[in-house]
Amino acid sequence: MKSGFTTTILHSDLESPIEHYSVHKPMHAAVAFGYPDARDLAKVFKGELAGYAYGRQGNPTTAALESKISKMEDGIATACFSTGMAAIAATFIALLRGGDHVVSSSFLFGNTNSLFGTMGQFGCDISYVDATSVDNVARALRPNTRLVFVETIANPRTQVADLVRIGELCARHGVLYVVDNTMTSPYLFRPKQVQAGLVINSLTKYIGGHGNALGGAVTDTGLFDWKSFPNIYDNYKTATPANWGILQIRKKGLRDAGATLAAEAAHRLAIGAETLALRMERAAANALLLARFLAEHPRVTKVYYPGLEDHPQHRLAGELFRNYGALMSIELADGIDCFDFLNRLQLVISSSHLGDNRTLAIPIAHTIYWEMGAARRAEMGIADSLIRLSIGIEDSEDLIGDFTQALAA
Ligand SMILES: *Cc1c(COP(=O)(O)O)cnc(C)c1O
Repeated sequence: MKSGFTTTILHSDLESPIEHYSVHKPMHAAVAFGYPDARDLAKVFKGELAGYAYGRQGNPTTAALESKISKMEDGIATACFSTGMAAIAATFIALLRGGDHVVSSSFLFGNTNSLFGTMGQFGCDISYVDATSVDNVARALRPNTRLVFVETIANPRTQVADLVRIGELCARHGVLYVVDNTMTSPYLFRPKQVQAGLVINSLTKYIGGHGNALGGAVTDTGLFDWKSFPNIYDNYKTATPANWGILQIRKKGLRDAGATLAAEAAHRLAIGAETLALRMERAAANALLLARFLAEHPRVTKVYYPGLEDHPQHRLAGELFRNYGALMSIELADGIDCFDFLNRLQLVISSSHLGDNRTLAIPIAHTIYWEMGAARRAEMGIADSLIRLSIGIEDSEDLIGDFTQALAA
């Protein structure tokens, strides 16, 4: 990226000519693209001519967003999908086969955890390890390990994976390293710097930021040697080897699962991305203030936030991330009913989303992690009273005021 983070996002669309000199890439709603010379249509299908054929496989508005995300992650190519989960599912479906082994962090977004369960039914073998230490990942590697999957800051307990050393381990063993960067966003952290081969982002969260569009993305950083990956189909070995992986993810992922990002959503996400840096700075500053306030509060027993000095990965987070992000979890003192507390909050909204401009709170064990059962919750360190907070961009004194009154009662 030549210019700064925000400048680059703002001016990315203008790099290729835009219809009528509009300053945004327009929203192309067309599902099909017609060619005056039928031979050109055939060339597009064969990959000999750049262009679009059918909307499930791509669209100019989505392509403009993909190019922006590649710049944000300093990657070589990005494929967008209808949700973050679709991006993760497309990656696994496109790259894994029965009999393959995967090493995953055990501190995982709940739905990714569920997807790994499904992949297990299709004959993939998943090992879950505490990824805050590379030793656990190293011990789990097998000759048929096809990828290692981690999140940057885990949701909801905010464990930070041993990102640098897992990257070194994967590089040494030639294993694909996939990092879900949703919680940090490319503004706080670029997984390419820890040698990730693929980066996943749920665009629904911080990149879109306004809670008005779903989307997901997979970015190839260009660091992984796809010639060493045994699951690339011959059809996709026509491109230069650097593009084999993303081509297979795009072709198989969009064709087989059909979870295409709609042009209107791509447009909204691209507009949201323009202010990512501004929103993340403000939300993270609010989060740090609030975490310090809550850590001192007698009615709050635990605050999990990487910005606090007693967080086990505080130093690592400080070295790797531009700031500590805007997600934290808290546990309340015995005798405080978490639902009563949530109901007393007046500004903060009880909601399952995160990465929104508004501050959102959710009792994890009773909602998102309910289905997995008490035993798996205990393994993951999810107490019944754990409340996840996604801090927004409200004025900080209003947020502190709201928590002060809700805790006073
Ligand atoms: C939300 C989330 C996802 C899934 O994204 P959706 O857009 O909701 O499908 C994946 N990973 C992480 C870490 C998330 O927080």
